[in-house]
Amino acid sequence: MRIPYRLKCIDCKKEHLVFADLNAESIEFRCCERSQTIPPYPIKGIKILERAVFEYNETKDYPLSIVFSAAAFECELADLHHRWLWIKGLWTKQIPTDEELDKKLRKHSDIKSRIEAVARLMGHTGIDEFVKSDSKLTEIVKNGFPSIKIGTVARDFQTNLFWPRNRILHVGYTGYTSDDAKKCINIAQLGIGFVQAMNDAKAKENQDPSAKAGPVTAITPAQLQQPA
Ligand SMILES: [Zn+2]
Repeated sequence: MRIPYRLKCIDCKKEHLVFADLNAESIEFRCCERSQTIPPYPIKGIKILERAVFEYNETKDYPLSIVFSAAAFECELADLHHRWLWIKGLWTKQIPTDEELDKKLRKHSDIKSRIEAVARLMGHTGIDEFVKSDSKLTEIVKNGFPSIKIGTVARDFQTNLFWPRNRILHVGYTGYTSDDAKKCINIAQLGIGFVQAMNDAKAKENQDPSAKAGPVTAITPAQLQQPA
């Protein structure tokens, strides 16, 4: 998967859209005299969400933008699921293989139970309790996301982001509009923010120095601030 980065040439100052592989360790870029190297976005879900924003802004392929939005959140969930099971394996000296991790993830067959499973893995009774426990997150949801209700957060992610994705992929529905795609980008960004905030709290608890996650408010890649 190719991820878009907007880079400005240090010589002529012209802005360029550069694509790099999802797993690229650095992004190389050269326009005029000098070449530049920048680090990739640190969060996998955010990288894929940038691709959703690209499809929204540049190609205006709104169904594809929705597919990438859902993939961004789903990928971030899987990433954290695998990460914390792997860390748990370090403690118990039974490090799971990639296949075992995937098998465990697939046990949670729908996205709603996957979201709740990841919340539990990071020490919460569920995603609703986590959002309720954080006044900042509660405010973000109440003020900006009328389609997400505290009490049914996981189900609302399923209904508002993954059902449209399924409708596109399963029956080839192409009628989604710019507003639909914008809503999905914002909801995916919120979901990634939630699980990153949980990850941050869990990493702090474990004093894991490698934790890179920031608070949900620090994540603003989508350049779209419209109620979703
Ligand atoms: Zn240049």
